[in-house]
Amino acid sequence: MPASSEGPFPGESGPSPALLRVNGLKQYFYRKGGRAAPVKAVDGVSFSLHHGETLGLVGESGCGKSTLARSILRIYTPTGGQILFEGGDITRLSRREMRPYRKKMQMIFQDPLSSLDPRMTVGEILSEPLIGNRIDKSRAERFLRAGEILEQVGLSRDALGRYPKEFSGGQCQRVGVARALITRPRLVVCDEPVSSLDLSIRSQIVNLLLDFQKELGCAYIFITHDLSVLRSVSGRVAVMYLGRIVEICPGAEISAALHPYTQALLEAVPARNPRLARQKGRPPAAGEVPDPASPPEGCCFHPRCRRAMPVCEKTPPETRAIGSRLVSCHLY
Ligand code: SF4
Repeated sequence: MPASSEGPFPGESGPSPALLRVNGLKQYFYRKGGRAAPVKAVDGVSFSLHHGETLGLVGESGCGKSTLARSILRIYTPTGGQILFEGGDITRLSRREMRPYRKKMQMIFQDPLSSLDPRMTVGEILSEPLIGNRIDKSRAERFLRAGEILEQVGLSRDALGRYPKEFSGGQCQRVGVARALITRPRLVVCDEPVSSLDLSIRSQIVNLLLDFQKELGCAYIFITHDLSVLRSVSGRVAVMYLGRIVEICPGAEISAALHPYTQALLEAVPARNPRLARQKGRPPAAGEVPDPASPPEGCCFHPRCRRAMPVCEKTPPETRAIGSRLVSCHLY
């Protein structure tokens, strides 16, 4: 079954309608003057996400993960394809038409300190999404709600009157989590939320997110370049390469990956390969990631693939269902 099919995707649970369905989404960026080929940051991505589900999105830096998330949240207007949220087509809604959806779709950013306005107190930061989404009218009501969620993320209500610079990175990320969840969203994009934090803090933030998911029933798109983080959070994992999804599989089955690129990512995880532990930043496959403005013909991974065949250089692979997985590769 191709990934863009309307039916349920392999690995999805239950017959309930998807919270989010993305069909053939494209996000191209045109350079000044418009003569050069566009940068195809996202190029025909399809997947769906159910209420309360987590989809891990993994791939090397620059593969299009964050652009895909920003397109879904309609920070960008997609170049092509379709985004259905709670059954409604939000692909081309205007800013004003998107307003009712904003409180239902939130984002947690990678760098907790720079994502918080240093001139605002934590109370003001947490009030902003309530004001922007017209929730809770009075300042007292907003601060009451902000104080409650601060305690839920493990900070004291005293933090309401303090500024971001007075907190550690882990505490700032707790404020970031509180800001994203204060509107009780249905969908939260977590963009590398623990990658800038110490190892000891990472699991605390991940556990916090999992606790909120149980309470609110929200769905997460959890972006990371680190497959080891995904093992603890993801119901399913989608692997991105050069703006496309090359494999989707249940998180519990990621170690039996089929796509050569996913296999290369797994081999580059230091915990699985202690010899690599000291080689921080080592690319998972030989060679450079190609320019997304002129991707290779055929399978876009073929210049770096150890198992490439002649057909891979000419013909793009179709996406096929293999058991509970979707894989785009001529080997299957
Ligand atoms: Fe490698 Fe060919 Fe599969 Fe692409 S289609 S991942 S080049 S084997």
